[in-house]
Amino acid sequence: MESAKHKRIELVTNTEVKAVTGDAGDFTVTLERKPWYVDISKCSGCGTCVDVCPITVPHAWEQNLKPRKAIYAMFPQAAPLKYVIDRDRCVECGLCMQVCLLDAIDLSQESTTEEIEVGAIVVATGGRVFDPSAMKQFRYGELENVVTNMEFERICNAGGPTEGELVRPDGRHIRSVAFVQCVGSRDLGNNPWCSFFCCMASVKGGRLVMEHAPGADVTVFFNDLRACGKGFEELYQRSVDEGMKFVRAIPSVHVNRTTNNPIVVYEDPQAGGIVRNEVDLVVLASGLEPSAGTDRIADVLGLRKDSYGFLSERHPTDGMAETRREGIFIAGVCQGPKDIPDAATHGSAAASKVGAFLSGGRSRLMSEMETDRAVGLEPTAREAGAEPGEVTYGDSHG
Ligand SMILES: Cc1cc2nc3c(=O)[nH]c(=O)nc-3n(C[C@H](O)[C@H](O)[C@H](O)COP(=O)(O)OP(=O)(O)OC[C@H]3O[C@@H](n4cnc5c(N)ncnc54)[C@H](O)[C@@H]3O)c2cc1C
Ligand code: SF4
Ligand code: SF4
Repeated sequence: MESAKHKRIELVTNTEVKAVTGDAGDFTVTLERKPWYVDISKCSGCGTCVDVCPITVPHAWEQNLKPRKAIYAMFPQAAPLKYVIDRDRCVECGLCMQVCLLDAIDLSQESTTEEIEVGAIVVATGGRVFDPSAMKQFRYGELENVVTNMEFERICNAGGPTEGELVRPDGRHIRSVAFVQCVGSRDLGNNPWCSFFCCMASVKGGRLVMEHAPGADVTVFFNDLRACGKGFEELYQRSVDEGMKFVRAIPSVHVNRTTNNPIVVYEDPQAGGIVRNEVDLVVLASGLEPSAGTDRIADVLGLRKDSYGFLSERHPTDGMAETRREGIFIAGVCQGPKDIPDAATHGSAAASKVGAFLSGGRSRLMSEMETDRAVGLEPTAREAGAEPGEVTYGDSHG
């Protein structure tokens, strides 16, 4: 939101980068601006049109836990806060046009193409969350009260489908939750990497449940609990002291058909034997993986990807925010899984690299890359397609 107000930042939304030509310091970027079917220079974001629109569809931003209309704003904090029409769902009844006092609705809009000139490019296309539907042991998509961490985020959010009230999808209040870690992460059958954010996100989520519903029963089922980061171990210990339970086990999920409660079934790591724990809600801590948007931009820009599909940095210690294409930088999860502090730090690093590059540091970067080549420093082993475990980024800490 701050960026949207900044005098020297132009926010170009609903737009796709189609092509990039030219060289570092002098790129031409071809943009496809997609239609909103609303003139955003006129739209005030009043929302009157929403009330009269007769079409209701599931809202993907709310993880389909809440409906939206065919004319909608993505979410209340969207920047810019303008309304857009989903033309695939719109029946062209014209009711929104009748109520819009600013005459902002324009169903005749089409995509337009434009070119902009830039000196440098930062790719920050993030990742996507692993879909656990195929992991049949968790019954996701089959049992109503088994949700992903993304859905749980919306349930807890004050602006979300339940307005922050801790209510599970079948409408009952939540007093006991089981978090299941490493869903789709650290799993050779799915994604072998650690997704980094999810252990602490579950600890945070568990604490939220305990705050909202004093006396609530929270159990985190983990593989290894990774509380790496300043203050994270302390937060984990505090949560243990306050009653959050941590069990080293990978459970499967069953159901009590009478209560509609999920039943978490696991082997007791200490006493042995099978334990059945009936809870109100199971939250699957789905991991991060490369997004389709990252794939697309990598193709357009000719960027290398590592063997997992994340964008490759120029060097794992001395070029984390740079790519091997001069003038093109990377930040955040598009390079590999991160939490918000690390993604923000990476973004700041990319911004300062761009600043240095545009103000004359270009020759330094070029000479660093030339030195790399001279000493035979090749792309990292993962980038070159080595199997995970052969040589990894951990080597750079040695
Ligand atoms: C359920 C869940 C809970 C989390 N909880 C926490 C937490 O409590 N604390 C924490 O620190 N971290 C948490 N994280 C991690 C956090 O979300 C990430 O660290 C952070 O969002 C990474 O920021 P990013 O800018 O790299 O990517 P993103 O936030 O994913 O942003 C990338 C943006 O790029 C856009 N995009 C993609 N492709 C293109 C394209 N080709 N062209 C234009 N735009 C494109 C996307 O639409 C998106 O808006 C959580 C993650 C999840 C999934
Ligand atoms: S399109 Fe018109 S009615 Fe709808 S939010 Fe914008 S100004 Fe308001
Ligand atoms: S952060 Fe925790 S839950 Fe997430 S993949 Fe790593 S170990 Fe598993």
